[in-house]
Amino acid sequence: METVVFATSELVRETTDERAEAMDDSMRARAIWERVRRRLRAELGEDVFSSWFKSIEIDQADGSAIRLSVPTRFLKSWIENHYKDKIIGRWSEEAEKPVEIELTVRSASVRQVARPKTAEEPRQAASAPVGRPAAPPMATTGHEALGGSPLDPRLTFDSFVQGRSNTLARAAAMQVAQSRVTDPVLFNPLYIHAGVGLGKTHLLQAIAGAAQSAGRRVLYLTAEKFTFGFVAALKNQTAIAFKEALRSIDLLVIDDLQFLQGKQTQAEFCHTLNALIDAGRQVVVAGDRPPSDLENLDERVRSRLAGGLTVEIGALDENLRFDILKQKLAQAQVQHPGFDVPAAVMTYVARNVTQNGRDLDGAFNRLIATNRLTNQAVTVEMAERSIRDLVRVAEPRRVKIEDIQKIVAQHYNVSRSDILSSRRTATVVRPRQIAMYLAKTMTLRSLPEIGRRFGGRDHTTVLHAVRKIEGLVGQDQALNEEVEMLRRRLND
Ligand code: ADP
Ligand code: MG
Repeated sequence: METVVFATSELVRETTDERAEAMDDSMRARAIWERVRRRLRAELGEDVFSSWFKSIEIDQADGSAIRLSVPTRFLKSWIENHYKDKIIGRWSEEAEKPVEIELTVRSASVRQVARPKTAEEPRQAASAPVGRPAAPPMATTGHEALGGSPLDPRLTFDSFVQGRSNTLARAAAMQVAQSRVTDPVLFNPLYIHAGVGLGKTHLLQAIAGAAQSAGRRVLYLTAEKFTFGFVAALKNQTAIAFKEALRSIDLLVIDDLQFLQGKQTQAEFCHTLNALIDAGRQVVVAGDRPPSDLENLDERVRSRLAGGLTVEIGALDENLRFDILKQKLAQAQVQHPGFDVPAAVMTYVARNVTQNGRDLDGAFNRLIATNRLTNQAVTVEMAERSIRDLVRVAEPRRVKIEDIQKIVAQHYNVSRSDILSSRRTATVVRPRQIAMYLAKTMTLRSLPEIGRRFGGRDHTTVLHAVRKIEGLVGQDQALNEEVEMLRRRLND
């Protein structure tokens, strides 16, 4: 719960009576403000509420004249333009009399004394290096106002371990993070793609954090948050202000692009992308696959992304996994000075936990937890027991739908676009069904996802194809061998 702060000094009057009256007013105002806040939160939803109303404080309440303050000019003008009438309305209803509300920008010093820092405070307030000039107001405001996702102070370039599979991505990310607002933009947009847990979010947050503490106006958002913010802005008819605010930043960082949903949101994202890039601002985007595989994405966005620099982060090899564990150990030892993991255990974990960085995190946390909670020494045997479920036995290769389509098309001497097309001749229908069947049995993709990636087909079409081929391979030995051969080729 945040505290509402009163500038009580201003309320202190000469006589005790007056003082008591003033205190009464402020107590009443505080109670009313709590009710107004609750109603606004219920009416507007948590996201909108926390974007605009969370940082409002009561500075003064004198009868029907109320003075509220916000930390920045940007917030003040936004609230004045979009929400002031609403606040006045709700307040008047709660107070059962008409009120006047004045909004002011509170000074940084007042704010510091008045309010202890909470976990929700923007990160750079706490971590900006001493001696550097503070970031201009937009860095915080834009970030809050546009629903920026929180930055994790642990995800920095320092804690990002370099290995063969991420050298290029890391170098490009550092280049982008270090360039100054006035520098010509080199790779724009920078698009980083990789499977889950390979460090995309880590790199993106490192970029955002570094650029922010260098004083650039940064917005880090997941694509979901972007979608949500835009939809909420439309609902509240603040879309224009939202777009303007969005375009007034120096560096836009969008994570998990594969989750960007909806035609209108995509169109808006495309405008934003174009506006920022044309204005020489940097855009960095991450997704779980290359732009060409983002089937749901608007063609214009895809081609704009493909026009920048695209880099892939590959799977973490054993050396890199070992180095990441070493880095985690060093971090853990700051908190738990007595904690140690023998090299043999590190090697064991690095060799056996092969999926991704998240599993490494999980494995490492288990070692600490088991050691701290049960006092068992960290040995290979203890590690074996505590991370058993994270150890994959001969992990199957990740097969891509695109490769399935290519290999099946090649085998049946049709083109991949035939497979994706709506043509229904037998020479195309059967290979298409086989490809869908392989996609279902060789990847973890859902039926709707597979349908989308086969030229936007319905999931029932995919299901039909899967059942059909399942039935046929049971009866037709030749077809069965054909399918098995395709499977082997894909697994090679
Ligand atoms: P993604 O966003 O690609 O799914 P994350 O960035 O969330 O992956 O990474 C998952 C975990 O693995 C995080 O804890 C991250 O810090 C760690 N990790 C991944 N790659 C590296 C690396 N090169 N150095 C240090 N930690 C890494
Ligand atoms: Mg991520």
